[in-house]
Amino acid sequence: MTLGHNTNQALFDETFNLDCPHCGKSTNLILVSPPDYKTLKRFRPDKVGFGFQCASCSEPIFLKFEIQSHTNTSVNFYSEPEIIERPTIEFEFEFIPENVVSDFKEALNCYSISSLNAFAAMCRRTIQSSAAEIGAKGKSKVQNQLNEMKEMADIDEETFEILKQIIIDGHDGAHPDLPNLSQERAEILLELIKDVMYQLFVRKGKLKKAADLRKQQINKTE
Ligand SMILES: [Zn+2]
Repeated sequence: MTLGHNTNQALFDETFNLDCPHCGKSTNLILVSPPDYKTLKRFRPDKVGFGFQCASCSEPIFLKFEIQSHTNTSVNFYSEPEIIERPTIEFEFEFIPENVVSDFKEALNCYSISSLNAFAAMCRRTIQSSAAEIGAKGKSKVQNQLNEMKEMADIDEETFEILKQIIIDGHDGAHPDLPNLSQERAEILLELIKDVMYQLFVRKGKLKKAADLRKQQINKTE
């Protein structure tokens, strides 16, 4: 994509589609604030921010683009943007114990702002506070789920080892030796941590709620 010295038309004609971080819909982005041509020519940054608005909810969305080249009459950008905000992740938090839910929410927030190593460290803390909540069997349950996920989702050995190191092995806390996490592996870890939370707390909580409701109804009719 290209910003010309006297027109932005080519930029306005580009179409972008994204999961809106505000309304969550897969949506078209409308360019509202392109960068200023003269300023780019003067300061020659490597990357520049563009302001868009969501076609569904009209909230502003900021994307960064890397500059590919300059010519005498244009600035050219790589068309793959860097995404700054991601949609908040929905989850049934009501069934998760209080001292686990704050760690889990913080983990999801880290993921949403693409702080992937912070996300990994918070996943680890979430597992630790879960183990404190449900006792020694917690860790083996998590290990079982990791094994099951490896088989079901056909996860490669290296990714499996990294995830294992992050959430099960190693030292306590946000250890500096934790492996770095790529976006692809972070996505797998996200699915894993959601699955673990579901299996450890949500499933049980839902069953208990259903059983309680049933009891109440039986008491009413008696
Ligand atoms: Zn939106």
